[in-house]
Amino acid sequence: MTTSAPVPGPVGQLSLFAPPSPLSVEALTPVAAEARPGVAKEFWIRIAPSGCVTGSVLASFVGLLAEDAHKEFTPRVKKRRQEAAEGWRHELVDRSEWDRRARLCMLGKCQHC
Ligand SMILES: [Zn+2]
Repeated sequence: MTTSAPVPGPVGQLSLFAPPSPLSVEALTPVAAEARPGVAKEFWIRIAPSGCVTGSVLASFVGLLAEDAHKEFTPRVKKRRQEAAEGWRHELVDRSEWDRRARLCMLGKCQHC
């Protein structure tokens, strides 16, 4: 009968890959944002002038201001001003609203276009 030597745990190895900040963990794991209490609205949706949702991003990733979401989709300020004038919008929604308003658009199965 062999006696097994104590196996070194994975803790030491994992610490090498520890993320620089808690924020990056949330950005990579939607579940983290979902599990966080008090955060009901967790997705930004990007809405074209036609009403079609053309994009979606986690609020925990970009921030809680519409401007933050717009920057994520459209980095150039000149283009952002142009889009705002054309009627592009960014709205913060929760999961059920996302399902209702964004899912079909994101799947390309909506009636907007
Ligand atoms: Zn649509």
